[in-house]
Amino acid sequence: MILHHLRNASAVVQLAEHRLLVDPMFSEPGSMPSFRFLARGGQRNPIVPLPDATEAALEGVTGVIITHEHPDHLDRPGLAWIRDRGLPVWTNAVDAANLRRKGLEVRELVDGALGMRIETVTNRHGRGLVGWLMGPVAGYYLAHPDEPSLYLVGDAVLTDAVLDAIDRLQPDVIVAPAGTANFGLGDILFSVDELVTVARRAKGVLLLNHLEAVDHCRTTRLQLRARMAAEGLADRVFVPEDGEALRFDERTGTRPEPRLTATPRPGLQKWLTAKIAGT
Ligand SMILES: [Zn+2]
Repeated sequence: MILHHLRNASAVVQLAEHRLLVDPMFSEPGSMPSFRFLARGGQRNPIVPLPDATEAALEGVTGVIITHEHPDHLDRPGLAWIRDRGLPVWTNAVDAANLRRKGLEVRELVDGALGMRIETVTNRHGRGLVGWLMGPVAGYYLAHPDEPSLYLVGDAVLTDAVLDAIDRLQPDVIVAPAGTANFGLGDILFSVDELVTVARRAKGVLLLNHLEAVDHCRTTRLQLRARMAAEGLADRVFVPEDGEALRFDERTGTRPEPRLTATPRPGLQKWLTAKIAGT
């Protein structure tokens, strides 16, 4: 497996014959508003450009995975890029209908898709009211028979569902959001303490994203690396720079049966977040 981290949650993942673009946010710096809706000190987004390596990384992409339809995971240029190439888009039932309306060729990312064992893990993207407002979102466990297994956690705060997925599925590689995003109503992504818990619980490696790319994610790479080193976790926790490609070959051989989970249905929040996303 090669995981080419681009910016924020955007990455290209090479899994055997598949080259999957995950969560494309391709906007120029400053072309989206601040995401610190209810907090001071905002900046227009994204706050950094895409890395130089982007164009080469996007060559030969065979499909796209959208974890959820928020503007830092799919923006207008990302949408146009996919549409221009007619690439298949893999997502869950929450976002499928809306993405089809936007002219994308959408397929549901269910067990067996892409020749992989797949489990959808439902997330909380914040707690209390803000968690409700952010809408139902999910992450994916993807196990290709010839590759290390991968758990794309997607946007989440720490819940029993995430810990249960880590314990049960023992993914070789976990990709988790680490910016401690907050737009003024409480954290909507893992705190650094929660990431330490995730790293301790995981048997494989942890790769962190959502760093120094959008204005409501305030945790820095330096802070994270220092904390993980202090916890003795630096050898299993990767904090890539934008444009950095990492290769993972190690497989534990653990391949438990994915669990069939009920896919959350889109509700009022979906309409709300789609309005905010505005793609
Ligand atoms: Zn996000």
